[in-house]
Amino acid sequence: MPVSGLPPYDTNNIFARILRGEIPSRKVYEDEWAFAFHDINPQAPIHILVVPKGPYCSFADFSTEASDAEIAGFMRAVGQIARDLGLETPGYRLLANMGAHSGQEVPHFHVHLFAGKPLGRMIAE
Ligand code: AMP
Repeated sequence: MPVSGLPPYDTNNIFARILRGEIPSRKVYEDEWAFAFHDINPQAPIHILVVPKGPYCSFADFSTEASDAEIAGFMRAVGQIARDLGLETPGYRLLANMGAHSGQEVPHFHVHLFAGKPLGRMIAE
């Protein structure tokens, strides 16, 4: 169940459909807890989306409702992906949008992983 004030999880959101293999994605990584693929509209030379396999609308939902194993597994997967891509030395940025003010578009929790060049200021004016 999502946290109070959020809509119920939409099982037909685009990332749910990617997880079910109903629409294609450029897969980067997959394990028991997480699935990662290239963003269709990259905002940096490397722009990967990492999603948990469970049905969570947002960070708010995931951080309250997911099990410790799901949270640990997901976070370790994000780190593993960055390591696998050799991004620890040059560095990278993680971002998760949650709710209206963030501009979250897809209601399945996801972390953006940006890398491949100096990324500039954290928040655009
Ligand atoms: P957010 O605004 O944090 O919800 O980010 C949603 C992201 O999903 C955006 O960066 C989109 O470019 C990306 N996106 C939407 N549809 C797809 C898709 N079919 N495959 C890959 N990325 C997608």
